[in-house]
Amino acid sequence: MTGYDPRAPQDFAGRHVTVAGLGVSGIPAARALAGLGARVTVVNGSDGERERAQAAELEQWAAARSASGEGGGGRRAGVTVRLGDGETLPEGTDVVVTSPGWKPTSPLFLAAAEAGVPVWGDVELAWRLRGPDAAPWLAVTGTNGKTTTVRMLASILAAAGLRTAAVGNIGVPLVDVVLGEGRAEGTTYDVLAVELSSYQLHWAPSVRAHSAAVLNLAPDHLDWHGSMTAYAADKGRIYEGNTVACVYNAADPATEDLVRAADVEEGCRAIGFTLGTPGPSQVGVVDGILVDRAFVENRQQQAQELAEIADIAPASGKPAPHNVANALAAAALARAFGVPAAAVREGLRSFHPDPHRIQHIADVAGVSYVDDSKATNTHAAEASLAAYENIVWVAGGLAKGATFDELVRTAAGRLRAVVLIGADRALIREALGRHAPDVPVVDLDRTDTGAMSEAVRLAARLAEAGDTVLLAPACASMDMFVNYNKRGEAFADAVGELAAAGH
Ligand code: ADP
Repeated sequence: MTGYDPRAPQDFAGRHVTVAGLGVSGIPAARALAGLGARVTVVNGSDGERERAQAAELEQWAAARSASGEGGGGRRAGVTVRLGDGETLPEGTDVVVTSPGWKPTSPLFLAAAEAGVPVWGDVELAWRLRGPDAAPWLAVTGTNGKTTTVRMLASILAAAGLRTAAVGNIGVPLVDVVLGEGRAEGTTYDVLAVELSSYQLHWAPSVRAHSAAVLNLAPDHLDWHGSMTAYAADKGRIYEGNTVACVYNAADPATEDLVRAADVEEGCRAIGFTLGTPGPSQVGVVDGILVDRAFVENRQQQAQELAEIADIAPASGKPAPHNVANALAAAALARAFGVPAAAVREGLRSFHPDPHRIQHIADVAGVSYVDDSKATNTHAAEASLAAYENIVWVAGGLAKGATFDELVRTAAGRLRAVVLIGADRALIREALGRHAPDVPVVDLDRTDTGAMSEAVRLAARLAEAGDTVLLAPACASMDMFVNYNKRGEAFADAVGELAAAGH
């Protein structure tokens, strides 16, 4: 069947839905769909031990459900998992629900397009499953800063007494949130703070946020999207149909261009955030104070104080500039939702960043050690390096096709020395040779578990009192670590060893 376009939970009963990918979003999607009476086939290319165990668990869950008479889709409802073939479209598929990681060029989607079968992501599915009283979404995307901003936003909304949660790409599947809404104690929300990745936005054509922000736009994941234009267009979808505010970064004109290109509801406003003095319809900073010239009665003449910069990172004193930008974006979205100024201050004060994001680990011998392992691309590392004066930079890993010239050129004046680790360190070394030839570079030719300890010891030797040793790799971690968390933990352990050794 072609052109199938379900708009409500009951429309899924008896339908054949193919779920692409047995993972963090695929499994909740399969369960949700089976729960609505759909006949679900989960397809997954790899067929390893882990996948088999997941498949068995999912099929058993579905069998137990249908035996107990739950579901209501008749005898055809349930879940089948097909491992080892993620490419052929199962016969009779009405709609494909994909996990965000699958590339748009995957043969399964080409087959679906040929057959006229729609393909949606987990976020699109969640949007369609929302009940009539579902909470509106305040949505955030951007190359960097999404998780931080969404957590700041949730903290501000909660400070205003609203029932809310930080959900989406942040690790809480939207399908589960939406199906739980209003159905159990503690799951009734007034508003949701939703993190959306560019992958999720690509497959979410009908999502309509109350208000949304694009924090910044720099090349990332281009192998997935195909081009920078396609990547930007997918990010820009977040503004489609916004009703109150499209929040953009005044320092990043590409984000404002996306607002201009969007088709929004009448009366929806473009609101900029800036680290400088805000103009009308902007939020910004004046003399260390976050001010709002967007959601005040007379924005030509008036400004409302929201918070002080010091409120953003009470523990470490001075926040990194990019976190001030994130706070302004969060404040703008909260204000668009009608939150009073006092809640912005309170929410920012009670916000604590997640680990591995500009996390101060310790001071040893007058040198400050900072873990920004989450700086997995050059744009993030550039922001990180801009936050400190004299830096011994620990960098390297998997470059994912990135080039480092611009990053190194911008940061050169702040670098005391560099310690390079990981598979693609030669790329950074070459860029340093071109743009910072006088900066000492140590190239660590080992990738075993002790490598980070040695990197930190070397960095300590190169640092002078008052300097910052900054782990901001500008690269992914998987060549040496399971993920960026493990990389950050290895750094913190190494700093611990250093302190214990009395350096
Ligand atoms: P995301 O969820 O988009 O990956 P995070 O909030 O987890 O973003 O931050 C990831 C990293 O990106 C941080 O460790 C920091 O290095 C960098 N970063 C955070 N906010 C910004 C920003 N507004 N601009 C540039 N880089 C940022």
